Amino acid sequence: MFIGHTAVAMAAKPIAPRTSLGTLFTAAMLLDVIWPILLLTGVERVTIDPHPETPFLTLDFISYPWTHSLLMACVWGALFEAGYFAWRRDRRAAGTIAVLVVSHWVLDWTTHRPDLPLYPGGPKVGLGLWYSTWGTIVVETAMFFVGIGIYLRFTQARDRIGSWGFWLLMALLYGAYASLVVGPPPPSATAVAWSSITGLLLLFWAAWVDRHRAARAPA
Ligand SMILES: [Zn+2]
Repeated sequence: MFIGHTAVAMAAKPIAPRTSLGTLFTAAMLLDVIWPILLLTGVERVTIDPHPETPFLTLDFISYPWTHSLLMACVWGALFEAGYFAWRRDRRAAGTIAVLVVSHWVLDWTTHRPDLPLYPGGPKVGLGLWYSTWGTIVVETAMFFVGIGIYLRFTQARDRIGSWGFWLLMALLYGAYASLVVGPPPPSATAVAWSSITGLLLLFWAAWVDRHRAARAPA
């Protein structure tokens, strides 16, 4: 899943109101933040299928036990939770962050083929929503707009960066998602890793936009 992760992060804002959207995005995407580094160092592996059954099946995740096993998702979640709590002393927000990190694995489980290990070396699972192009698009787009709706109901722009910056970020996210569906397959696994790393800039953008928005006063 891709923009579905950002949707869950936006929906978490009312539960962790003092936590930056950049941090919430990072938590929901943490496994995919670490993944390209392990790809480039050869610890995890992906290959590209030039003629996939659906555009979502372009990447063949050969091996990614350290980022995408359920056990390691829980470990990364606990580490991020502990780090965030040490930094901000906000137990509820730290707990929300842990749930977001693990939610990544759960959402990936619904979409991926059975390629997600329960633990490194363990049995692999995946419900395979990606076998349906339209099913994936409808589910993920609905999630995305619900996430936006929750975030906008809870926060309001303090200036133009908070409003236009937010919508531009959303347009970029959805545009990147659409190009995944209609664009050509990536040329190599290394290219996949580098484009994922470049995509991390959007996390900073989310943090920047969030600083220009404030919690709405209760009606
Ligand atoms: Zn993932």
